[in-house]
Amino acid sequence: MKNYSLFVFTSLFLAVSACSVNPVTGKKQLVFMSEEQEIALGKQADPSIVAMYGLYQDQQLQNFINEKGQQMAKISHRPHLNYEFKILDSPVVNAFALPGGYIYFTRGILAHFSNEAEFAGVLGHEIGHVTARHGAIQQTQQTLGQILLIGGLIVSPAFRQFANEGMQAMQLLFLKNSRDHESQSDELGVEYSTEIGYDARHMANFFQTLNNMRTGTESETLPTFLSTHPDPLNRFQRVGELAEQAQAQHPGMTFKVNRDSYLQMIDGIIYGEDPKQGYVENNTFYHPELKFYFPIPNAWRTVNTPQQVQMAPKDGKALMILTLTQANSLEEAAQTIVEKYSLTVVEQKKLSLNGMDAYAMVADQTNQQTNESIRLLTYLISYNGLIYTFHGVSLPTDFEKYLPSFNQTMRNFKVLRDASKINVKPERISIKRLSKSGTFQSALEDYRIPSDRHRELALINGLDLKDQVSAGQYIKIVVK
Ligand SMILES: [Zn+2]
Repeated sequence: MKNYSLFVFTSLFLAVSACSVNPVTGKKQLVFMSEEQEIALGKQADPSIVAMYGLYQDQQLQNFINEKGQQMAKISHRPHLNYEFKILDSPVVNAFALPGGYIYFTRGILAHFSNEAEFAGVLGHEIGHVTARHGAIQQTQQTLGQILLIGGLIVSPAFRQFANEGMQAMQLLFLKNSRDHESQSDELGVEYSTEIGYDARHMANFFQTLNNMRTGTESETLPTFLSTHPDPLNRFQRVGELAEQAQAQHPGMTFKVNRDSYLQMIDGIIYGEDPKQGYVENNTFYHPELKFYFPIPNAWRTVNTPQQVQMAPKDGKALMILTLTQANSLEEAAQTIVEKYSLTVVEQKKLSLNGMDAYAMVADQTNQQTNESIRLLTYLISYNGLIYTFHGVSLPTDFEKYLPSFNQTMRNFKVLRDASKINVKPERISIKRLSKSGTFQSALEDYRIPSDRHRELALINGLDLKDQVSAGQYIKIVVK
């Protein structure tokens, strides 16, 4: 959760169909939007993506991805588009593109690349989605109604409305690319990255890293990239072959990998969650910047985005969210919520909660078409000049069951004063130059990396623990 105002996103549902020539294949195909519409869609969704994750501030890395991105865009099949390349402040390992030329890398994926060539391959893949107009083709094939994921949580479709609008926009735009589209983007990634002088075989290596991730402990944090992309092991082989073929067409040319320079560039990049945006420890959510904390029900999952903290039990039959409300008073905030969700208030009261003014309300919402209802417990809490809103939502029949959990969390929203919880530092990637040769594992031992993190470090280095490393070589370690 970040301290900035909510934004309004208007989704674009486009139904204008046109037959146009695909810039990559040269074939005519049915595309449901014009180039202008594609650009408009990207332009409209981009602010919600940025608001949702925030941008990662690193001028050197930003300059690097711009420079390589623009260079590659020029040699692509759609050089005339206005491309933008952004780094999102998310630990998740992901990269994606919006129609019209908006390309995003998370700081998580940048921390996982081990050289410029891996980055260039993924850059080419994402530019490929834009140049082959995959977003434009996909857009009309799915509707919001099919999407059951809110952030990383699976919850009942009845609660979908409580996810923030940006999240819904993202789900729309993260449409599962078909395997055909992915294969085509892999080909374009090889073609484009080879064209600007990178060794595309390293793109294949990165797919192997992704594959290792899937079987490892990190798998839970990686839903999007893997679920929307084909089996990385097959891709590893295919991309490797494509890279060999592409290089064979440029005899005598040497292809860049640029490992050391890339590693220098990511030295110090934040790795994993950034606690300043809120973190969970021992079933408690702490927000060191906004200075509050509250307990999370046992065995519930939590997703923290800049705009919302969302919690849900594994069965998805309840949802709790915490968000900031733009209102000048508790009464005004309550009124706005009642109107926004067409609620029928069952009971409401003002109260003092741990020294803060608060407003509690139980209300029902009935779907006019289906006549089905959901019940909400809402707490509005005035703290530090802001109004925090908790919603606990379930079907009316489940409400009594979940009410104790809702109350336990909402009524224990408290001011955070504990300096040890406030001054928590994120982990960062630190690049080390090895002073002696040996196995990668022995190098980690030399740096006193606890053994329970060896596997994870092997993964982010794209190495096996038993691989040989040599004196003078750079490796990534994780420091606080
Ligand atoms: Zn893709």
